[in-house]
Amino acid sequence: MSELSKLTISGARAKLRAKEITAVELTQSCLDAAAGADALNAYCAHTPEIATEQAKAADARIGAGDAPDMCGIPLGIKDLFCTKGVKSQAASNILDGFKPEYESTITTKLWDSGAVMLGKLNMDEFAMGSSNETSAYGPAINPWRREGSDAKLTPGGSSGGSAAAVAADLCLAATGTDTGGSIRQPAAFVGITGVKPTYGRCSRWGVIAFASSLDQAGPMTKDVRDAAIMLEAMAGYDAKDSTSANLPVPNFESMLTGDIKGKKIGIPNEYRIDGMPAEIEKLWADGADMLRDAGAEIVDVSLPHTKYALPAYYVLAPAEASSNLARYDGVRYGKRATLQSGEGINEMYERTRAEGFGDEVKRRVMIGAYVLSAGFYDAYYRRAQRVRTLIKKDFDDVYASGVDAILTPATPSAAFGIGEMKNADPIKMYLNDVFTVTVNMAGLPGVAIPTGMDANGLPLGLQLIGRPWEEGDMLNIAYRLEQSAGFVSKPNKWW
Ligand code: GLN
Repeated sequence: MSELSKLTISGARAKLRAKEITAVELTQSCLDAAAGADALNAYCAHTPEIATEQAKAADARIGAGDAPDMCGIPLGIKDLFCTKGVKSQAASNILDGFKPEYESTITTKLWDSGAVMLGKLNMDEFAMGSSNETSAYGPAINPWRREGSDAKLTPGGSSGGSAAAVAADLCLAATGTDTGGSIRQPAAFVGITGVKPTYGRCSRWGVIAFASSLDQAGPMTKDVRDAAIMLEAMAGYDAKDSTSANLPVPNFESMLTGDIKGKKIGIPNEYRIDGMPAEIEKLWADGADMLRDAGAEIVDVSLPHTKYALPAYYVLAPAEASSNLARYDGVRYGKRATLQSGEGINEMYERTRAEGFGDEVKRRVMIGAYVLSAGFYDAYYRRAQRVRTLIKKDFDDVYASGVDAILTPATPSAAFGIGEMKNADPIKMYLNDVFTVTVNMAGLPGVAIPTGMDANGLPLGLQLIGRPWEEGDMLNIAYRLEQSAGFVSKPNKWW
């Protein structure tokens, strides 16, 4: 029975529909796997009662012949999603004990389609980070290790718990969110598929906000087919999110033909960054060769403003975060600090925020308040917004020239060690997002796919960036790349 948690969504769907297995058995296998994996610290809450109840309901639906694609599929949910009656803390102490009275639109859609919630997944605090080390729950651990070493590695961030849980088969798939790379970088660090949809494709309602103009939720799955299936279930117009796009959601899975003949794939010159490891260069060149062999045309393209993306992101994202996080004041949600006698409301705000937020969140709130302040707004915030427009224009120009998708590395390195960046300048950590952050700035869809290994036996991923709203086409190219790369490795179980 414990083997069932290793299934893909599509594999489980076939077995469920053929009545070879039940959703209750499948769910139990995942619950057992999750309960036995404390060493990975991937889950921050287990919800076995909800899971069992939802699995029984799914079995009844399947028995009645009403089995949507996600029916009976056990999922882990990133702690950034509000789940009714279940602790939702964005891995922060400031939301200590917060149990929402409502369910996010995305999780509502997933439960309506019959999916099963196994629990909440660890992450960087308020999704700020690239290694899961800023979590109030402590870091999630990558199930992969370097060959011949038992050093603990990061699964990336901020969706690190989601990445670790999917890679270690502690669920069939997971939700993630991506503001600057938080789905794609962790997916690449653990050898799974992660999709950041076009901005507006998936509702942000009920997803705890980090930087609202950049945040998008997406699926983290064991393969590209599963990503297509799960994205369709998550996507769609929502009147409760004013930035949600009122566009039909295609059947993404039916677009996975593997036929990419005549597709034009752009290779952006500016992504060849100084000091890029040779193995990443090779991975990228190999990926381009695979697509060429499959009939695509590979063309050089230029995205000249790429080098300004990371600095502009680290002005805009903190600015929006400082505003979004102003609501955590000790009055409305979660934690309230204990006051000394004679202290009043100001001390209550100050103490609550000082005790409740971790260092990285405080750093971002301070940077955000600074760049938005009267004397500096034009010099930083307004200028960063202009840069953002230019970055978007770079992509518009490339796509207007007939390019269908852009191929880049997903990350500048393989997974690094827990604590390895502790004494480094924070900028070093921020560099993790150098290939992913442009995609958020331009609101485009992106997918990370595992395509190779580094010299230490760790997974490496490539990224495809699609045209706006063309997730189906992007996933089909990713599907072809997945077939050509043939990445099937799994971490050796040590936990
Ligand atoms: N690592 C980036 C940051 O720390 C991106 C995070 C994210 O995408 N949520 O801001």
